[in-house]
Amino acid sequence: MITMENKTNILMQRYEFGRLLGQGNFAKVYYGRSLATGQSVAIKVIDKEKILKVGLINQTKREISVMGLVKHPNVLQLYEVMATKTKIYFVLEYAKGGELFNKVAKGRLKEDIARKYFQQLITAVDFCHSRGVYHRDLKPENLLLDENGNLKVSDFGLSALAESKRQDGLLHTTCGTPAYVAPEVISRKGYDGAKADIWSCGVILFVLLAGYLPFHDSNLMEMYRKIGKAEYKCPNWFPPEVRKLLSRILDPNPYTRISVAKIMDNPWFRKGMDCTHLRTSVEDKEKVTLNADTLFDPKQSCSGPSTDTKLKVTKPCNFNAFDIISLSTGFDLSGLFVRNDQKEEVQFISKNSAPSIITKIEDIAKCLRLKVMKKEGGVLKLEGLNECRNGTLSIDIEIFEITSSFHLVEVRKSSGDPLDYLKMLKQNLKPALTEIVWAWQGEQQH
Ligand code: AMP
Repeated sequence: MITMENKTNILMQRYEFGRLLGQGNFAKVYYGRSLATGQSVAIKVIDKEKILKVGLINQTKREISVMGLVKHPNVLQLYEVMATKTKIYFVLEYAKGGELFNKVAKGRLKEDIARKYFQQLITAVDFCHSRGVYHRDLKPENLLLDENGNLKVSDFGLSALAESKRQDGLLHTTCGTPAYVAPEVISRKGYDGAKADIWSCGVILFVLLAGYLPFHDSNLMEMYRKIGKAEYKCPNWFPPEVRKLLSRILDPNPYTRISVAKIMDNPWFRKGMDCTHLRTSVEDKEKVTLNADTLFDPKQSCSGPSTDTKLKVTKPCNFNAFDIISLSTGFDLSGLFVRNDQKEEVQFISKNSAPSIITKIEDIAKCLRLKVMKKEGGVLKLEGLNECRNGTLSIDIEIFEITSSFHLVEVRKSSGDPLDYLKMLKQNLKPALTEIVWAWQGEQQH
């Protein structure tokens, strides 16, 4: 049973819960409906305690960041992320057609149908790779279908951003499902995420056309051996063009394995496809790569592959993003996807003590000719002396203790003109606070 707000099936007064759609290792997925628009969604519910216990915080944070990065017709879209003290809710595009796997389980697909899914898979993978995102767990179970039978790549739980590459440019976590993973992933030598995904796409193509796996053995070591040598046999109904393409994809050597670009040039692949806007443009790539930096904020991490390359500052390891999530007003993580200079509520982490934060705020208020009032529950209220457009400007500042040496400070407008407030925040408050700010929430570290 999941905990619902107000003992009804309503989540945050926004979504109505429905039946259970499926279950993963750490999550349950429910059908949902937006109360405002009636739109169908899927709500993935993750128990925070479970991921904290098994140390999957970084992976989940990566999942949030990655899904925000990749918007493509064949990639399952993440609409928003919400959290309560105990659970995280991913509100996702609803894939009415369920798992592609269910279709294959009933038997092999016709060549044209298999090709259509393969085309959609490759365009989605190309798109993700162009954004530095590697799925790393591509398999039919992670391929869903919408109501029109279009493919939606889901489950970025194991995906990694390009930033988690080590100095040698290779990924270093062994993950994925054995039957679909590339030989170099199994050999744990470090691998190129793009080439590993291409291998998995080859296995998927084989499964769609054959109705069974290319590498299979009841003995796991024997199966690994077969994968390592790309030892598979095509059934007699595979056309020669497919056999040739598969031999280029299921190449055990990642350096000679075919690239996505070359797959897209393949005549069998291109059949029946509008290829004019197939590949992702460079301008597009650059735009989103910039976003990736702001979305994936290494300041909030303690450990894990994502911090390998960027994190130079010493971090307190008893402090994580979920502490902050739990403390945030409304527990709404959509701020991760909103430009910071337009937000009415900003947060920063300070390493100063609470009294010194209060003293600093009082000093700033004096300079800005704002009156300081203390409210109940540790909230400071700063109020303008004059009435402006839309009434007197009033700002609430709340200080939360995360650990004895870390405080989260939340600054928000409680009344007055939004434009006046944003101007004051940007031009006066934020620069004046710099001295006591260790890190602004959701902003890149310089
Ligand atoms: P996951 O934890 O993402 O692997 O999801 C577990 C299962 O829930 C999947 O295998 C699907 O059967 C189902 N599921 C996940 N996401 C969706 C979705 N957006 N729409 C419909 N079913 C879904």
